[in-house]
Amino acid sequence: MRELNKRASSVGIDILSVTDCFITHEHTDHVRGIKTFAKHTSSNIWASKETLSSNPGVKNTSDLTPNEPIFVGEVKVTPISTYHDAVNPLGFVVENESSKVLILTDTGKRPKDLDRYLDNLDMVVLEANHNVRMLENGPYPYPLKKRISSQLGHLCNEDSGEILADIVNRSKNPPACFLAHLSEENNKPQVALLDVANTLKSKGVLPGKDVQLEIASQHIPSKIVAF
Ligand SMILES: [Zn+2]
Ligand SMILES: [Zn+2]
Repeated sequence: MRELNKRASSVGIDILSVTDCFITHEHTDHVRGIKTFAKHTSSNIWASKETLSSNPGVKNTSDLTPNEPIFVGEVKVTPISTYHDAVNPLGFVVENESSKVLILTDTGKRPKDLDRYLDNLDMVVLEANHNVRMLENGPYPYPLKKRISSQLGHLCNEDSGEILADIVNRSKNPPACFLAHLSEENNKPQVALLDVANTLKSKGVLPGKDVQLEIASQHIPSKIVAF
């Protein structure tokens, strides 16, 4: 909570003012601290029923169902099913009248319902978890390598580039893209940027012109993007 508070204040957000918090799935890197956060704030905690059941004792919870939007004020949030070794994991489309954002991490492959949400995105936070060769040749034990590269694991840089190319081709304006959930062992910011850029170029999309690529760090908050 202290770290969350510190990071939020560094980008001008008062953590106590957060009204709604969305959880993708129950893995520790996504739920650590959620009980404390719920206890110290009055925020609603949204997740699939199965994710919530995996985290008993969290207060102010509300269930989400894939493809059934909910509203936070004028903001519409639509959960999308992802492919991951978790119980009913989700990604999110967040939109209001003027902007639309996709948040998609922790999926072994392109979500089956993704296509219906790809039009006119202004921003996307997209998993680029690993470089395939770095994972293959890296230090992880074989079963873990297999899990990460499986269809219930994580998106590699090339898969991420393929999804992003479709997003760009279906956007009116060049979207901003934050590559996220980069592995610290099996990827590097420069490698992810290069792999995604190469995939984009192979599909006729020019990074820097057609899409703005950024890296979301695990350690420092990303800049605030306004539309
Ligand atoms: Zn996960
Ligand atoms: Zn994760």
